[in-house]
Amino acid sequence: MPSDALIRAESLIRTIPDYPEPGVLFRDITPLLADATALRAVIHAMIAPFEGDFDVVAGIEARGFLLAGAVAMEAGVGLVPIRKAGKLPRPAASVSYALEYGTATIEAHDDIVDGTRVLLVDDVLATGGTLVAGHELVAALGGDVVGTAVLMELPALGGRAIVGDVHSVFLG
Ligand code: AMP
Repeated sequence: MPSDALIRAESLIRTIPDYPEPGVLFRDITPLLADATALRAVIHAMIAPFEGDFDVVAGIEARGFLLAGAVAMEAGVGLVPIRKAGKLPRPAASVSYALEYGTATIEAHDDIVDGTRVLLVDDVLATGGTLVAGHELVAALGGDVVGTAVLMELPALGGRAIVGDVHSVFLG
C-alpha cells in the first residue's frame, strides 16, 4: 500500500501533451519537486530496495540530477553525474546510443572505478535506451550497477525489456 505522501506525490506529476513534439505525453515532475513532503516520500521510495547496497549514485542529465542529488544526500553516499557529450572537462568513458532521430552520447568522469557499486537514477524510463547506455557507461569505467531506480516508468514504451530490472516508484 503506497503511503498518503506517495499518493499525493503521484498526483503532482503533470502530463503535458505534445511536448517537446507532437504525440509525446511529457511527464513533468516539477510540481512534485516543489512539494517538500512529496519529494521526501519519492526519494525514500527510490532508495528503499537498495539501502546500504551502493557506494555512489549516478544521475543522468538533466532531470536525473534533480533526484540523484537528493538520493545521495539521504543515502549518505556521493554523486557521479552522467552528462551529455561535451559537458565534462575530462570524460573517462563515453557511450553513444540511438534516439528516434539520430544518436546521443553520454559521458562520465573516472569517479567510478573498478568495483564501485552504483545506483543508477533517472526521472523517467521510456524506451530504455538512456538507461541501457548508462549501464554500459558504468561498466566501461569498471563499476557495478547494483540497482536502477526511476521515478516513473512508462510501460507502454517497453523499456523494461531492454534495461532489465528497474525499480519504478510510479507507472505512467
Ligand atoms: P528513453 O531513453 O526512451 O527511456 O528516455 C528516457 C529519457 O528521456 C529520460 O532521461 C527522460 O528524462 C526522458 N523522457 C523520455 N520520455 C519522456 C516523457 N514522456 N516524459 C518525460 N521525460 C521523458
